[in-house]
Amino acid sequence: MQATVRGPVVFNGRGLHSGKPARLTIRPSMAEHGIWFRRTDIDSGDTLIPARYDVVHQSPLCTTLVNSAGVSVGTVEHVMAALAGCGVHNALIEIDGPEVPILDGSAVPFVRGIMQRGLRRLPAQVRAIEVLKAVTVTQGDASATIAPSGVMRIDFHIDFDDAAIGRQSKSLNMSNGSFARELSDSRTFCRKGDVEKMQASGLALGGAAGENAVVFDGDRVTSPGGLRHMDEPVRHKMLDALGDLALAGAPLVGHYTGVRAGHTLTNQLLRTLFATPGATRMVTCDAGMAALLPGAGLVWDEIPQVA
Ligand SMILES: [Zn+2]
Repeated sequence: MQATVRGPVVFNGRGLHSGKPARLTIRPSMAEHGIWFRRTDIDSGDTLIPARYDVVHQSPLCTTLVNSAGVSVGTVEHVMAALAGCGVHNALIEIDGPEVPILDGSAVPFVRGIMQRGLRRLPAQVRAIEVLKAVTVTQGDASATIAPSGVMRIDFHIDFDDAAIGRQSKSLNMSNGSFARELSDSRTFCRKGDVEKMQASGLALGGAAGENAVVFDGDRVTSPGGLRHMDEPVRHKMLDALGDLALAGAPLVGHYTGVRAGHTLTNQLLRTLFATPGATRMVTCDAGMAALLPGAGLVWDEIPQVA
């Protein structure tokens, strides 16, 4: 059955790019509502923003949603990944600022908050989007593909010049709580030179202290405490991919492969997928199919604990 949160779940923090403080509250909603954001700091006009791929404003560093009235919410990908990875299908996310708090740079604070509050089952079956045809988009040496598969699977390959990142590949079936267990605590990462460039252009202001992003400098990790996983960067790219794919509007049953891909390419993949005749169909999940979706089989004790 579809699920929502059992009660409001509150998070306080700062936006990574804007540096602005924000309070985010995930509220329960009814079956078939889907995921929506609402800006509570704006009193007039349409402040509701759908969590949907077709309202994504293209930006390379994070995923920003903009409604038809021009009201936006930035850096939605980690909270979207947490909702998808916990199996939350319906929620209203209220936020009193322009950007989702970055917290520790990963999705695990959202996962722990959601699962601590618990889920409420709703009287409607889960519907999923089944991928029927393979679709690929490319940009230079980067690509993103989605292909038919009986279960959601994410493969990712990255290749950075920085020796401390280098080449990393990982492949994961998203069922049985694997998102929360394997990916949710992997943090945003960046290169030291990029942070300086971003800050000079007014971005990444909340990430200056290295508290909410892993900072690499050539062959060194400059963040205090080092890495949570040897391959934390590729795990974070998979986390971002799950969050960006969650903007399809329903769980996506397909095999995603990202090669050096980012937010823009994953969004182009969804746009191309839904523009391709016969590439998807909506299915009502029976118990067997629902048991394979991200979030099914998630066990509290397996969620990583972070300081
Ligand atoms: Zn991210």
